[in-house]
Amino acid sequence: MKAITLRDVSKEYGNVKALKSINLEIMSGEFVGIMGPSGSGKSTLLYLIAGLEKPTSGSIEVLGTDVTSMKEDQLSEFRKNNMAFVFQFYYLLEDFNVLENLTIVGELARVKEPKKKALELLDYLRLSHRKNHKPNQLSGGEQQRVAIGRALMLEPKIILADEPTGNLDMEDSLRIFNLFKSLNEEKGITFLIATHNVELTSYFGRIVRLRDGMLV
Ligand code: ADP
Ligand code: ADP
Repeated sequence: MKAITLRDVSKEYGNVKALKSINLEIMSGEFVGIMGPSGSGKSTLLYLIAGLEKPTSGSIEVLGTDVTSMKEDQLSEFRKNNMAFVFQFYYLLEDFNVLENLTIVGELARVKEPKKKALELLDYLRLSHRKNHKPNQLSGGEQQRVAIGRALMLEPKIILADEPTGNLDMEDSLRIFNLFKSLNEEKGITFLIATHNVELTSYFGRIVRLRDGMLV
């Protein structure tokens, strides 16, 4: 099954051409890296797929649905049911502990038994011993695992990650990638990961390379 299809997608910010005529197909279950120098369009590509930005021209289908023509409220519902975003900076709620960071997301999304689900995920992520800690009491790698846990509360079919290890040392980066790979293999989640860390390339089943907004 096709997870993501881009047809002739371009994105301009004023007179900056961030993406130029991109054609790309990602199948469900793929583990894809998006690589390229800074400014080559990696983040823009992810934001367009998530529907957080609209393309200037072209169309994007996610799981058979055209996300470029959707209205904002339909789109946020569609996103919530299908896609999750993981960022370089974790954007956790600093005033809430780890368990609350997960349950709040589950409650907002009306997940069944959010606390039970959050506890199960923290166990899976080996973060149970940190559940009562606030984000600033955790290492960078742990904070990113909490952010991933929060994404998993919504049982996404696709995870879009923008430089998820950009703030981590090599040991933590490998741990995050091993986690992504297990989620890919065990839960069949499709991954699209933007990174410029060449030491992580061996994880990818396929690499999409961008330069100056073009596929190379
Ligand atoms: P990467 O993620 O590979 O570093 P980006 O997708 O962030 O690349 O950026 C691609 C190009 O688009 C760059 O030239 C960047 O400056 C420009 N760009 C990205 N977002 C915006 C924005 N919101 N407004 C203006 N220009 C932007
Ligand atoms: P890293 O190098 O991954 O950032 P650290 O060496 O800072 O990790 O931390 C090692 C261990 O100490 C980790 O398990 C982390 O959870 C814990 N730790 C780090 N900072 C704090 C803190 N401010 N309060 C409580 N525990 C912490």
